[in-house]
Amino acid sequence: MQQPLFILSEDSQRTTGAAAQESNIRAGKAVANAVRTTLGPRGMDKMLIDSSGTVVVTNDGATILEEMDIEHPAAQMIVEVSETQEEEVGDGTTTAAVLTGELLSRAEDLLEDDLHPTVIVEGYYEAARLAEDAIDEAVIDGSDGGDIDDDLLVSVAESSMTGKGTGDVTADRLAELVVRAVRQVETDDGIDREDVHVHTRTGASSSASDLVEGVLVDEEPADDNMPRTVEDATVAVLDSKLEVRESEIDAEYTISDVDQLNAAIEAEDRELRGYAEALSEAGVDVLFCTKKIDDRVAGYLADAGILAFGNVKSKDGRSLARATGAKRLGTLSDIEESDLGSAENVTVERYDEDDLVFVEGGAASAAVTLFLRGGTEHVVDELERAITDAVDVTVAAIDSGGVVPGAGATEIAISDHVRASAASVEGRKQLAIEAFADAVDALPRTLAENTGLDPIDALVDLRALHESAGCAGLISTGRAGEVGDPIEAGVLDPAAVKREAVQSATEAATMILRIDDVIAAE
Ligand code: ADP
Ligand code: MG
Repeated sequence: MQQPLFILSEDSQRTTGAAAQESNIRAGKAVANAVRTTLGPRGMDKMLIDSSGTVVVTNDGATILEEMDIEHPAAQMIVEVSETQEEEVGDGTTTAAVLTGELLSRAEDLLEDDLHPTVIVEGYYEAARLAEDAIDEAVIDGSDGGDIDDDLLVSVAESSMTGKGTGDVTADRLAELVVRAVRQVETDDGIDREDVHVHTRTGASSSASDLVEGVLVDEEPADDNMPRTVEDATVAVLDSKLEVRESEIDAEYTISDVDQLNAAIEAEDRELRGYAEALSEAGVDVLFCTKKIDDRVAGYLADAGILAFGNVKSKDGRSLARATGAKRLGTLSDIEESDLGSAENVTVERYDEDDLVFVEGGAASAAVTLFLRGGTEHVVDELERAITDAVDVTVAAIDSGGVVPGAGATEIAISDHVRASAASVEGRKQLAIEAFADAVDALPRTLAENTGLDPIDALVDLRALHESAGCAGLISTGRAGEVGDPIEAGVLDPAAVKREAVQSATEAATMILRIDDVIAAE
C-alpha cells in the first residue's frame, strides 16, 4: 500500500476551484466599490484614519487604496493596478480600479453561465485591443505630437483637478500655472518630470499659490548674522560635515600646560576657519550643506558674508544641484569653478514661524516650483495631490500620444466599438467581449450616479448624442450635470491615461480569473 504524500504543511489553508474564484472576485469587487463614489468631479471624498490616528481626507483613488489596510491578496492586486496607473501616467487610478471591479463582476456572471475562465480571459484581451483602437480613434486632431495647443493642455490639467477640492475658480488659475510650469522646463529633448517641483505651505488661501522659477527649500541660515538675500549668487552644494575632523583612532592626549591647550584650540580654530576661507576664495556666496555645519564654522561663514544652510535634506541637495548646475561636492579641497552653480537670486523669507529659501532665476530656472498655499494642512495636502496629478497629465498629454474627450465620452466610444466588433467574433468568446463593453459602460454610469443623474436615462441620452454628434459626455458644471460636448466644455483627458487604465484593469482582472487554487501558508 502506498503512503499518502503530504506536500503542504498542516497549517496551510487551501481553497480551490469555484470557491477560490468566488472569493477572489468578491474581494476585487469590494475594493473597486470602495472607490467608485469618488469618481469624477462630483465624486465624494473619503476620510481615512490610520492606526496612529492620522487623518487623510482625499478623493484620490490611489491614495485611498494605499491608505486602506488591505489584506486580501486578490484585493491587493487591484491596489497594485492603481499604483501602476499612478506611476505610469499619474491619473486615472479610480477609473482603473472601478473598471477592474466591473470586469470581475461581469466575469462572475459568465462563469455562472459555464463559460470557461480561459475563454473569458481571451475575450477580455481581444476586447482590450479593440478598446485601444477606439482610443486612438478618439484622439483629438492636432493634440498628438509636440506642438499641442496650450489651451488644450490647460483643459487637461483642469479636468484632472476638478473635484479635488481646489474650487472651480482656483482650478482654472492653477491649471494655467501647471501648464506654464511644464512649458518652462520643456526642452528639445522633451520634459524631465523631475524638474517640476511642488512645495506646500499653509497660512494663505489656495488662490495665493504661485509659480517660482527655481527651487524652494525649507531651511534657515546656519547663523543669524548671515545675509538673507544674495543676488547673482554662486552656489555650492556640499555633502560633507563642516566641523573638526575626528581622528580615526581613539587617541587621548594629555595637556599639561596652558600653552599646549591654547595651541590645540588654535589648531582646531584654524581648521574651522579654513573651511570658510576655502569657500570664500572659490567665490561661493551661498552654501547648501547636506551635513552638519559647526556653529563656529557658521560664525566664520557669516563673517565672510556667505549665506549657508546645514543639514539640508539629501533630496533637496539633489534638486538644488540639478537646478543651479552645481556639482555635489564630497570635500572642500580643490574646488573648481565648474563645480559651482548659480542663481540670479537666493532669498530667505519668513513665513509665519519658519524660514523658506527661494533659489530663483538664472541657471536655477531650469527647474520650476509650484508654490502651493492653503488654509490648513489637509487642504494643502489634497491640493498637492491634485497638482501633482495635473502636472503628470500635462506631461503625458505632451509626451505620449495626445488628448481624448473626457466626461465618459471616450468610454462610450470604446464600448460602442467593442460591442460592434463583438458581433463578428465566433463562439462564446463573443459573450466575453460584450461583457467587456458592459464593464466599460459602468464608468459613464458611475459618473452619472455621482452627479446625481438617473444613470439609465443618462446613458440613453449619452448614446443618442454620441450617435448624432460623434462625441458626447456627462458634463458637470457647477451643481448639475448634463449631456453635452466635452471638447467644447474643455473636459479632456490624456489618451495615455485611458490606454493605461484599459491595460492595467484587463491584466489584473484576467490574472485574478486565472487563479483556481489559493494556498495560504499560516
Ligand atoms: P481618476 O482617479 O480615475 O482620475 P477622477 O475622480 O479624477 O478619477 O475622475 C476622472 C473622470 O472625471 C474622467 O473620466 C474625467 O473625464 C472626468 N471629468 C473631469 N472633469 C469633468 C467635468 N467637468 N465633467 C464631467 N466629467 C469630468
Ligand atoms: Mg483624476
